[in-house]
Amino acid sequence: MMESWQNALRAAITSPSQLAERFGIDPKSLEAVCERYPLRITPYYAGLIRQAGDPIWRQCVPDPAELDDAGLPADPLAEEEHSPVPALVHRYPDRGLLLTGNSCAGYCRFCTRKRRIGRREHGISFGELQRGIDAIAGRPQIRDVLLSGGDPLLLGDRLLEEVLDRLKRIPHVEIIRIGSRIPVVLPERITPQLCRMLQRFRPLYLNTHFNHPRELTEQSWQACARLAAAGVILGNQTVLLRGVNDDADTLLQLNRNLLQMGVRPYYLHQMDLTAGTGHFRVRVEKGRELVQALRGRITGMGIPQYVIDLPGGKGKVPVTNDYVESWGDELVLRAPDGARVVYLNS
Ligand SMILES: *Cc1c(COP(=O)(O)O)cnc(C)c1O
Ligand code: SF4
Repeated sequence: MMESWQNALRAAITSPSQLAERFGIDPKSLEAVCERYPLRITPYYAGLIRQAGDPIWRQCVPDPAELDDAGLPADPLAEEEHSPVPALVHRYPDRGLLLTGNSCAGYCRFCTRKRRIGRREHGISFGELQRGIDAIAGRPQIRDVLLSGGDPLLLGDRLLEEVLDRLKRIPHVEIIRIGSRIPVVLPERITPQLCRMLQRFRPLYLNTHFNHPRELTEQSWQACARLAAAGVILGNQTVLLRGVNDDADTLLQLNRNLLQMGVRPYYLHQMDLTAGTGHFRVRVEKGRELVQALRGRITGMGIPQYVIDLPGGKGKVPVTNDYVESWGDELVLRAPDGARVVYLNS
């Protein structure tokens, strides 16, 4: 039997003509974009749009600007070089990123894995997932496993439970974390049955991905409350996005409301230098100002750490003078291993 979240996914907007029908736009300008980068907007998330170009729209509706690569690479974090098997990215000695799949409930236009997400040829088979888990089992330095993708909560309950069970049985795996945007775009997926299953794996950490205060609705609040009641420890990773959340009041409201919802702000990500996302870029100096503007207006618990994921897979570093050696159009950053890395700041 189809669950209601599966029906909601089937009813998602996936073509420019459906967008045109719903919002009265010209579908032609979006066809080439959607051929290159897939489109999916859940009925719930589409319902949050108030008008074309608003912060919800910008995150989910394709933009012809995506076709402009602006010289940016498809895989700025060199994830593919750090993958011993297709389902595992192993960049930090102690942490492994397990890719559970390649689809998401909605495709974010700013996604750093745009190059592969939602494309059948980059799917993760059950065998590959199994080999990813085996690779973790064979690397005793991995103590912390992060399920990512794609969205791990798109797996059915039984498959997800099996993955979690297998990971839990690996003696050196101390904690398991899930990264998911499902509480934001498909809250009906957070069913009581799912939460009952997740409860067995406590402590389980789930970082979700709210970017704008208008994404915090009664439904997403209920979804987070159900997860929290099951003992899931909730955090949030926001991406700093031009025209979505690049002003102080929006960030303040977002983080205040997250705390009220029981979700602890974790990271504010500077956009990765990913091809097709240049129109979302915000300068790092501005990001730093925005985070500084939160100080004094909200508890330190509500201030996310502003980070840059260094090009070439050198890892995430906080945007502070300890890591930024020089500012300007080219930032020079110091990687955790001491290497100097240049980041194009424009
Ligand atoms: C971000 C990331 C992690 C986890 O990083 P934390 O800073 O510990 O949350 C692990 N592996 C990869 C490849 C990552 O990009
Ligand atoms: S949910 Fe995450 S992986 Fe999926 S499209 Fe959005 S940002 Fe990318």
